[in-house]
Amino acid sequence: MTSRPFDVYQIRRDFPSLDQHIHGQPLVYLDSAATSQKPRQVIESISRYYSGANANVHRGSHSLTSTATNQFEAARDTVAEFLGAPKNSIVWSRGATEALNLIAQSYGRHILKPGDEILVSEMEHHANIVPWQLVAEQTGAKVVKWPVDPISCQLDMAQLDALLNSNTKLVCVCHISNVTGTLNPIREITEKAHNIGAVVVVDGAQAVVHEHVDVTELDADFYVFSGHKVFAPAGIGALYGKPALLDAMPPWHGGGKMVEKVSFGGTLFAQSPAKFEAGTPNVAGAIALAEAITWYKSIDRKAAERHIAHLQKRLVNGIQSLDDLNIVGLQPAASVVAFYVEGVHHSDLATLLDQQGIAVRSGHHCAHPLMDAIGINGCVRASIALYNTEEDIDRCIEAIRKACDLL
Ligand code: PMP
Repeated sequence: MTSRPFDVYQIRRDFPSLDQHIHGQPLVYLDSAATSQKPRQVIESISRYYSGANANVHRGSHSLTSTATNQFEAARDTVAEFLGAPKNSIVWSRGATEALNLIAQSYGRHILKPGDEILVSEMEHHANIVPWQLVAEQTGAKVVKWPVDPISCQLDMAQLDALLNSNTKLVCVCHISNVTGTLNPIREITEKAHNIGAVVVVDGAQAVVHEHVDVTELDADFYVFSGHKVFAPAGIGALYGKPALLDAMPPWHGGGKMVEKVSFGGTLFAQSPAKFEAGTPNVAGAIALAEAITWYKSIDRKAAERHIAHLQKRLVNGIQSLDDLNIVGLQPAASVVAFYVEGVHHSDLATLLDQQGIAVRSGHHCAHPLMDAIGINGCVRASIALYNTEEDIDRCIEAIRKACDLL
């Protein structure tokens, strides 16, 4: 598909929610790392599905159910192609969190033994920490921290060499940090982990909307993401797993659709991915996720990333021109800027920005260990998407300046 030339004002016309006022001011939405706004093509696809092909999938033989099933399975193919993954290596989930829990409870619980180690980076979102703690408790395995440098907010590859050992069974790491935007060298990590026989779980929640992801090139064993961060609705996401791993894994949830034959003598499970998809799935969500990917692929993504990097630089320059503002782990050309003001509570600052129509996120960003490593209890994060403009950035800088004068 040929992409249309990048024009931020034309792109904005696809996003009805951006055209609104908050506290009497035009909205500046700088919280896309929490969730992206949705293009009308995605919103319309949900309405179209429920106005037409709505039926349960993989059940019955009437026309609507086969139309719904075809659309649902075509959506799986769209996700597979988006990730550079083979067909049938994609399992639907509610999002990144559920996918990580599935890996922990199906793969992890099946293979981990007392004394085994699960290496988890210190910059992870809680969604890529807590499932590993739960499975460690269930199996006697141990979660080992891969420390982050508190200033650069990057991971040290030499430290990875020192931490990997014959007990390491899993390495769990994000592709891009949700707090600082740190881009981790996944290919290098998978190579090192595979050398000692460990399996690598990549949390791609923040990456699929910025990086060109190819799980085959990355050689990731598992890769997860949430649809809502890539222009799709909440409640749908995907798990990629290498087919040999998925085939060997036992199911996690039991119920309808994940079986070949059930009797009181025992159950014969379906093949993967159906084996992991018990119950009625989010059909409209899966179809809308495919629509979101198709929409996103219609954009010149390289130009979009150049635009985002330009806006991030503008925001960084603006913030650095203000007194007492500290940027946390600044990453060049990332889509996020995390910052705090000495002596000012981050939520007070975010509230004053909201009153000026600027939506940013404040808090610990579901990354307590990273906050502890940096030595702060929270910060404000402005996150930029392809639909933001220079005017958005300038209004944000001006709003921070005004808020700081008041605090
Ligand atoms: N990992 C990262 C890096 C994230 O940013 C998020 C969402 N903030 C998650 C995991 C969890 O995603 P979800 O809540 O959509 O499951």
